[in-house]
Amino acid sequence: MIKKIDHLGIAVLDPKRALATYRDALGLRLEQIEEVPSQKLVSYHLEIGESTIELLHPTDEDSVIAKYLAKNGPGIHHVALQVDDIEAERDRLVESGLQALSEEPFIGANGKKVLFFHPRTTGGVLLEICQVVEAESPGENGAPTRGNGA
Ligand code: ZN
Repeated sequence: MIKKIDHLGIAVLDPKRALATYRDALGLRLEQIEEVPSQKLVSYHLEIGESTIELLHPTDEDSVIAKYLAKNGPGIHHVALQVDDIEAERDRLVESGLQALSEEPFIGANGKKVLFFHPRTTGGVLLEICQVVEAESPGENGAPTRGNGA
C-alpha cells in the first residue's frame, strides 16, 4: 500500500542559497543534514508536515546528482512515495508496466529501503518508493534486510 508522499528530492547547485530559500524564506525546519556516501551526496532534510523536502547536493563529480545538475540544472530530481511493503509494491508496479531501475531495493537515506522507477515509464518523473525499516524488532518476521549496495 502507498501511504503518503515521503519526500521530494530537489537537486541543488548551491546548498547555502537553497537553504536561504527553503529554510529562511519559506520557514521550513532543517531537521537533519545527512551524508549518503553510497550516492555521493549530502541531503538536507526540511520538514514539511508529514513529508520532507530533501535538498540534494553532490559530493563528487561522479555522483548521479552531479550528472543530473550538469544536464538539467537545479530542480526537482525525484518524488518518493512511502510504502508499507516495498517488495510487494515493486511487484505490483512492475506488473503494471513500470520499469524498476534495480531488481532489489537497496538502503538509501535514513536507512530506508528504496527503489527507483524509470521516468520513461512514469510520465517523466523519477519515482522512488521507500519503506521505513523498523530497527527495534530484529527477527520479528525472520526476514533479513536485503541490500545489494547498488
Ligand atoms: Zn529520495
